[in-house]
Amino acid sequence: MTLDLARPVAAKNADGTTRAPRSGILAGVRASQLTSALFSNAGFAHAFFTRKGGVSKPPFDTLNFAYSTGDERASVEENVARAGAVLGVDPSRIYYLHQVHGVGVQVLDGSAAREAVRRLSGDVTASSTAGVACGVQTADCVPVLLADRESGAVAAVHSGWKGTVANAARAGVAALRALTGREGSLVAAVGPHIEPCCFEVGHDVAEQLAACSLAGGDVIDVSRNKPHVDLRRIVEAQLREAGVREVDHVRGCTHCDAERFHSYRRDGKVGGRMLAAVVARENASEPRIERICQPISDSRD
Ligand SMILES: [Zn+2]
Repeated sequence: MTLDLARPVAAKNADGTTRAPRSGILAGVRASQLTSALFSNAGFAHAFFTRKGGVSKPPFDTLNFAYSTGDERASVEENVARAGAVLGVDPSRIYYLHQVHGVGVQVLDGSAAREAVRRLSGDVTASSTAGVACGVQTADCVPVLLADRESGAVAAVHSGWKGTVANAARAGVAALRALTGREGSLVAAVGPHIEPCCFEVGHDVAEQLAACSLAGGDVIDVSRNKPHVDLRRIVEAQLREAGVREVDHVRGCTHCDAERFHSYRRDGKVGGRMLAAVVARENASEPRIERICQPISDSRD
């Protein structure tokens, strides 16, 4: 099922009475999200959701996608339904994992229950099945969306500092290429996370982050009391080293901007998690099935 976004929220029944609003677009409130022009122009439905436009109560308010931090299940389900309305997919096809700050990949074809998938460990979701939304949850970590212009396949990567040291971005690129069996024409978008204004780390962590890409040593700001790290530049360098030529940035510091973003470092373990997701599409270069299967009467005329 695809949600019909054009349908009015308060539709009328046949007898003229007003029908209850459908889940996903309750009272006309939409899940708030940021988008990448690069992905939109390449034909990929996607979103970096903010914390706004959901139904969760404090401290998960309001758009929270984590089931495991203490929020009410029904609230998370409604939030996922709202995400589905934005992405144009059935909520049952929005997948994200039990993230463990590694580089493990789960390939999804849309046949598995999302309930089962979110119990699987991993930090990369990938799919070449049109209509499947690959997601990651973040609250300070770096969300990276990947897509192949040629095949329509997509991946989402969760890259916190440990994942960045382990080069999760490269793992995402490799997963996408393994899935499609070709180099492809990849695009990437790096989403909001804890930016160098706020990402203070110890010297040991700074050293590891300085060494995990070719971005150069100035990704570590040592002018302040403790090192501050620019994860955005490191992840972009990792993507480019992996062969991604087009990298877009969707900016925002999750720690500074409490109105728009959840932040683990600011709010602690018991708090909300945001979702970043991208939907696999049809291979644009191959004929669509409808065109192959034209009615016979068409060809007689
Ligand atoms: Zn900041």
